[in-house]
Amino acid sequence: MGRLVMKFGGTSVANIDRIRNVARHVKREVDAGHDVAVVVSAMAGKTNELVDWCGDASPLHDAREYDAVVASGEQVTSGLLAIVLQGMGIQARSWQGWQIPIRTSDAHASARILEIDGSEITTRFKDRKEVAVIAGFQGINPQTNRITTLGRGGSDTSAVAIAAAIHADRCDIYTDVDGVYTTDPRVVPKARRLDKIAFEDMLELASLGAKVLQVRSVELGMVHNVPVFVRSSFDKPEDIDPHGTPPGTLICSEEEIMESHVVTGIAFSKDEAQISLRQIEDKPGVAAAIFGPLADANINVDMIVQNVSEDGKTTDLTFTVPASDYNRARDTITSSKGKIGYARLDSATDVSKVSVIGSGMRSHAGVAAKAFKALSERNINIRAITTSEIKFSVLIDAAYTELAVRTLHTLYGLDQA
Ligand code: ADP
Ligand code: ASP
Ligand code: MG
Repeated sequence: MGRLVMKFGGTSVANIDRIRNVARHVKREVDAGHDVAVVVSAMAGKTNELVDWCGDASPLHDAREYDAVVASGEQVTSGLLAIVLQGMGIQARSWQGWQIPIRTSDAHASARILEIDGSEITTRFKDRKEVAVIAGFQGINPQTNRITTLGRGGSDTSAVAIAAAIHADRCDIYTDVDGVYTTDPRVVPKARRLDKIAFEDMLELASLGAKVLQVRSVELGMVHNVPVFVRSSFDKPEDIDPHGTPPGTLICSEEEIMESHVVTGIAFSKDEAQISLRQIEDKPGVAAAIFGPLADANINVDMIVQNVSEDGKTTDLTFTVPASDYNRARDTITSSKGKIGYARLDSATDVSKVSVIGSGMRSHAGVAAKAFKALSERNINIRAITTSEIKFSVLIDAAYTELAVRTLHTLYGLDQA
């Protein structure tokens, strides 16, 4: 007998039929004797709809009210799953974030979990074998008593945090693919499923665009040493042996991984915007004049490239920001134009970032150089580059994203045999 957290994403609870399917997965684990806490997302598309409604109601809305609205999707699915489980004769109770409580910071729309009191849930495991059905994505700020949400994709983080709080043996993330692949299998059909991936590599994949897990959930798994297993909710519940190993990907510490490749996977993100400032005077203090105001405006700058301007005397500075911050970034720079002193501002929003990830890069030289050559042979122009110990990223025209990902996937020997 063990203790499990089972998390089901939006497509897995998209309608009542899918919720019944989830209930059968839960029943399988309950019948096998496990204590089970389930974390659910909102029905597929629901959170997008709620976000859009807030925007329609007022483009500049109060983040506390945004959270009050968008947290509602998970309230519905947690209640519905509890109803279906009860109908199958399984003891079950739904829980919203504030009821547990899941205490978070007050950063509305991107709150961080501070503390979870799992005692009531575990007491109920012992006393009456009751399944806890928990609304993902939401919590409560203890100072203000207001509902918060954890950022898009945040139910993954709810699940791993709950697993840590109740000392679960494993956190199963059920989704619409049967594991973590070398790249998004919807874009590259030749992508290969990984049996295991190290937390470090998964962290990079997630932060560089692979949305299969929210970044924060991987961080929490790493810090609290929670084995996280990504698997499909589309496998028939009755066909799965609860004591066997189903298809999926285990996210675990580096030491547990036997075979290591130099490159683990490729991620991409179309959520990028590029800003280039032309003909800046090359003198101390200029970078501070540009990036200081952006930091003050809470805008995350990612890639930065500096090169000599056409005139050979001044310098050009290119950087990227998340597409959603593009307008604010442009306004921030324009209002500091006097201080920075640039001749022209060029920008592009039809760009994407393609990243190659692998902890094996630590001990191998020339991994990135191979990519630059392969991309140039495909006539793909690189606008900016960043590198770190275990990854490198290139900024390219968005139209070439799929071609670049496929090219690199083949180049690093990741294609399925
Ligand atoms: P859920 O609603 O279950 O949380 P998401 O849509 O958030 O599911 O995440 C699953 C999706 O992540 C998959 O459908 C897939 O298209 C995408 N994805 C991107 N990169 C990867 C990858 N490397 N491995 C697996 N899935 C990936
Ligand atoms: N429903 C939320 C979202 O779509 C949280 C999640 O599904 O993880 O972002
Ligand atoms: Mg998700």
